[in-house]
Amino acid sequence: MTGQHRIVVLGAGYAGLAAAGRLVRTARGAEITVVDARARFVERVRLHQQAAGQQISAWDLREILESKKIRFVNARASEIDTEDKRVLLDTATVLDYDTLVYALGSIADQNGVPGVAEHAHSVSTPEDADRFTAPGGAVVVVGAGATGIELAAELAESQPDSRVSLLSPEEPGAWLSPRAQAHIRRVLERLGVEIRSDAKVIEVTEGGVRLADGSLIGSAATVWTAGFAVPDLAARAGLSVDGAGRVLTDASLRSVSHPDVYAAGDSAVIAGPGGRELRMACATALPTGTYAADAVAARLRGAEPGRLRYRFVLQCLSLGRRDGLIQFLHADDSPGRIVLTGRTAAWVKELIVRGAGWVARR
Ligand SMILES: Cc1cc2nc3c(=O)[nH]c(=O)nc-3n(C[C@H](O)[C@H](O)[C@H](O)COP(=O)(O)OP(=O)(O)OC[C@H]3O[C@@H](n4cnc5c(N)ncnc54)[C@H](O)[C@@H]3O)c2cc1C
Repeated sequence: MTGQHRIVVLGAGYAGLAAAGRLVRTARGAEITVVDARARFVERVRLHQQAAGQQISAWDLREILESKKIRFVNARASEIDTEDKRVLLDTATVLDYDTLVYALGSIADQNGVPGVAEHAHSVSTPEDADRFTAPGGAVVVVGAGATGIELAAELAESQPDSRVSLLSPEEPGAWLSPRAQAHIRRVLERLGVEIRSDAKVIEVTEGGVRLADGSLIGSAATVWTAGFAVPDLAARAGLSVDGAGRVLTDASLRSVSHPDVYAAGDSAVIAGPGGRELRMACATALPTGTYAADAVAARLRGAEPGRLRYRFVLQCLSLGRRDGLIQFLHADDSPGRIVLTGRTAAWVKELIVRGAGWVARR
């Protein structure tokens, strides 16, 4: 025990980096350590581009963090001992903490449907995206959420030898406004993507997918984007979690069961406007990471933090490199009437992605 308050941040994605960068300015005198299994920060929101064969940048985490006097430990956290307040790493090292910020993000959900783990690819992590190479034949993308739409468009645009199908039981972008949905469909069709919005996939096989109506769709490669899971560390540690394993938090992003643990980003359940849970997004990971840091710093000063006040503003999707969609949102994440499309939207999205990466690294 050094006498300094020891804050350990688990995860150096958008939420963890935002938290650490803020803590170093606000929790003066505390010793801050960030742990990540990866050595480099990769903009996760560009992984569909990487899967489509584009080079994306990566930044050395040790350089980013040590330039701010934050200690970086490049190791996988394998266990949290909440009783003795320490984190066990896969390097057989132990890190003691006084406050823990849990920001371990999310991964592809491979367990919901048979065959996904064995036969499907994913673009959820840099390693997943790296392993995928478009085979030049039929590619089936399962899931028409934001990731599936972005991936299908990117593959169709940059891999013209591939025949891309997008399979989902709903219209692509079903949660967006009718204008936004119409634009997504128009661009995907223009890029040659076959859209099946009546397709519930119940099994992935070596040669394709099986649908709920019994039919088979052949593919040279299947990419699963229909759902995300989270690391099970919090659940194994006995923290209160939801059914998926995400840490349950109060209005200050503190664990409801362990007051010395805070959680942010994809691996936390966070109440948003209108009582709705914040969705997993870079757009929520950055501000919740920053807010968690502010709450920790306030309590270290002996003050009570204010509530997290988050308002959605817009959601942006890339549709290849030359088109995109900016959907303006109401504060509670429901779609408004205004949408931007085309090259302007592609540019706005690019600027937002660059800005988010810059904010995280800063
Ligand atoms: C292809 C794609 C496109 C996307 N596009 C958008 C978009 O346009 N807009 C948007 O808002 N969101 C988008 N998202 C979602 C967004 O990327 C995530 O919501 C965001 O990255 C969550 O941030 P996070 O910090 O919570 O987690 P992550 O970014 O996942 O970071 C978690 C970190 O924890 C580390 N980690 C995990 N387990 C361990 C462990 N046991 N020990 C040590 N380290 C560990 C990981 O290495 C990682 O660095 C996209 C996601 C994908 C996959």
